[in-house]
Amino acid sequence: MSGTMPPSRKHRHPGAGVKRPLSRAKGREIDQAALAEVRELLPHDRLVRDELIEYLHLIQDEHGCLSARHMAALAQFMVIPMAEVYEVASFYAHFDLVADNEDPPPAFTVRVCDSLSCEMAGAAELQKQLESGLPENVRVMGAPCMGQCDRAPVAAVGHNPVTAATVESVAEAVFGGKTDPVIAGYVDLEDYAKNNGYDLYGACLKKEHSPEDIISVLEQADLRGLGGAGFPAHLKWQFVRAETGPRILAVNADEGEPGTFKDRHYLETDPHRVLEGMLIAAWAIDADEVYIYLRDEYPHIREILKREIERLVKRNLKRPKIHLRRGAGAYVCGEESAMLESIEGKRGLPRHKPPFPAQVGLFGKPTLIHNVETLYWIRDLVEKGPALFSESGRNGRHGLRSFSVSGRVAEPGVKLAPAGINAHELIEEFCGGMADGHDFKAYLPGGASGGILPASMATLPLDFSTLEERGCFIGSAAVIVLSDQDDMAAVARNLMRFFEHESCGQCTPCRVGTEKASQLLSAEEWDVPLLEELAAAMTDTSICGLGQAACNPVLSILKYFPETAS
Ligand code: SF4
Repeated sequence: MSGTMPPSRKHRHPGAGVKRPLSRAKGREIDQAALAEVRELLPHDRLVRDELIEYLHLIQDEHGCLSARHMAALAQFMVIPMAEVYEVASFYAHFDLVADNEDPPPAFTVRVCDSLSCEMAGAAELQKQLESGLPENVRVMGAPCMGQCDRAPVAAVGHNPVTAATVESVAEAVFGGKTDPVIAGYVDLEDYAKNNGYDLYGACLKKEHSPEDIISVLEQADLRGLGGAGFPAHLKWQFVRAETGPRILAVNADEGEPGTFKDRHYLETDPHRVLEGMLIAAWAIDADEVYIYLRDEYPHIREILKREIERLVKRNLKRPKIHLRRGAGAYVCGEESAMLESIEGKRGLPRHKPPFPAQVGLFGKPTLIHNVETLYWIRDLVEKGPALFSESGRNGRHGLRSFSVSGRVAEPGVKLAPAGINAHELIEEFCGGMADGHDFKAYLPGGASGGILPASMATLPLDFSTLEERGCFIGSAAVIVLSDQDDMAAVARNLMRFFEHESCGQCTPCRVGTEKASQLLSAEEWDVPLLEELAAAMTDTSICGLGQAACNPVLSILKYFPETAS
């Protein structure tokens, strides 16, 4: 494990045994100066309970941390218990909680991504050099995947992700005070409209299409939920439409699976194609409200979306009301029900299912949840016809998939390729082959949780339901390519450390299991029977996919690279 990491989520829970900065929570005298400072930052009309996370962001953005006095003031304004503010603030990794007797964090924080692709690109060494090379008033710490795996290694200076980072480029950002996100060119509303953008949505509003027409296109194209689960989109729409309104649409832009960055790519290059798909979906289910939940690691996309949604509203978009919410550094909030909890301003604890979100979702209402990429394809599928997907594909599969490819390939990036393409074809035809000096050894077909396959299985079609019998899955199509220079034990430790850090702590098999698995993997010789027993217990009894899939990479390594265990 490299460098300094914030305490894992479960250890930041109240009562979990670490120092609790708010030791005087009950009966605390409210600091008048803190009240004035917080009042200044909050909206002046009315405070909404579900915006608690946004209010915490506002305070942290202004003051660089969340002090106990500011949180107490916020609790007072919101008329909620201090404990409620604290339990939410302490859940999310991006909030810096500071006790009364503690100094605030340094003005600059550099977060070095320590997820697998960045670690393979030398992030641990980079972090070490930054720790010794930067002044003491700069805090350097490890952080989970920032969704820039194709530009590894990545170090975020404040809100500015420095890609292909070196000590020099990070130091330049720090000393130059470059902490704001950089927005590159993208297709804005004007350019999008010139290319018949929003014509389809307009036609829907004019009833030139019916919701059933659009649903039929999605069905013919076999458009799946592209966030990982692959559930047919048309069924999702039908399930939500069958429920009594009011209904809500929630857009999951919280891709946090290490290795995944395709949603970032679509939002930062062509955001209106996603927004138009979103508006069509909202129209089809008759939703008055849409919530976009964007991961906090993408601040540049937040700026883009704020700007472009404002333009849409100025162009007379009255319905639905679009709420843009940001996460605060919690992988588990990519799980749909945890995302709903987070949008409601709570800790991102996955819900038990049933009931499913289509029945009881956001604020208890029937909710359609879609990943960014799923929405991105709607306009094209209707305008160009479902054959765009149904006639694409390879090796007996149908559709197009946006593969996020990183690791030991010559040209990493988002690769739009036929569903069913195999890893060998993907690397050779779309990624310029392996990186110089690297021999293909193995690949992760579906990010951190999708298992690992050896290069000898690089002819398996990559798609939903094609890898399960090998103990793997494609998930969000995040392919991380490993080479002869990668140590499989180090890979296993990296991935388990991630799950351990990101476990929300709600259920024992995952909370204790990920920690125990990390310990077992750190031994020189692995206790294989115990690891297998632990993996079975976690898979069978964890509440959500994080705990259920956390041991997949380890099981793959035991199966395909058994020599790693000794
Ligand atoms: Fe939380 Fe349990 Fe899901 Fe792990 S499996 S993230 S502890 S709900």
